Amino acid sequence: MSGLPEASGRPHTFEAADYDTLVDGPIVAGELKVYEFTRSGKPHYLVNVNEGGNWDGARAITDMDRIVAEHEKLWGSLPYDKYVFINMITEAGGGLEHRNSSVLMTSRWAMGTRQSYVGWLNLVSHEYFHVWNVKRLRPAALGPFDYENENYTPSLWVSEGITSYYGDLLVRRAGLSSDAEFFDIGTPPGYLHTASHLALREGKPLDRGERCVVHATARIERTVLWNDVTVESGASLVECIVADGVTVPAGQHFERCALVSVNGKMLAAEF
Ligand SMILES: [Zn+2]
Repeated sequence: MSGLPEASGRPHTFEAADYDTLVDGPIVAGELKVYEFTRSGKPHYLVNVNEGGNWDGARAITDMDRIVAEHEKLWGSLPYDKYVFINMITEAGGGLEHRNSSVLMTSRWAMGTRQSYVGWLNLVSHEYFHVWNVKRLRPAALGPFDYENENYTPSLWVSEGITSYYGDLLVRRAGLSSDAEFFDIGTPPGYLHTASHLALREGKPLDRGERCVVHATARIERTVLWNDVTVESGASLVECIVADGVTVPAGQHFERCALVSVNGKMLAAEF
């Protein structure tokens, strides 16, 4: 499968008008699960790689169709003949936009919880928004590319910033996320979960910002310290997020709390 046009009369063959088009059209082969929907007469494909047994493809394309419809409403038309979402189910994250396709990376459990599924829909919408913002309206550096050198641009705040904003917003407009999910930038437990996942993967301790002072007798478990945090003697923190500039007083114990400093005074909120 590929977003590249198929060569007429030649099965499993794609055509590219030039080299830039070729390298912008990833091709995926293997044991694929392909789901198709049509919007404004144009075929759209969800191509699952490594699907396993727990992906609800019918539900996914129903929701993707609603997202595509919102984008079409915003932009006025669909500027391609077909579009392919290559969904790599590889326990990784992120995605990459192309002119008529995108590559998404996700987890086999992405449909397991509402939070992770809405996260995946936001990723779908983000990469798809790039059909316009980046792949057709773009800073000069982002195409045609100089393949020998860095293609520097200071304009990612437009290319990625506006895309991130509208990606999530159009999922909200499609009725697939709630206001709370749109505005929520992550709950404290979600933040800690992400931080510990990354720490575990990289074999590092949990985040500790710059200039933190932790007394030797303090106990810190599964806790993120931002910058300029002081933890005094005998204090203990378990699953906490400690914001910039906080001093945790001697001997105090906190569990599952966000600690912030307001006018030099420490405030604790449990979560
Ligand atoms: Zn992006």
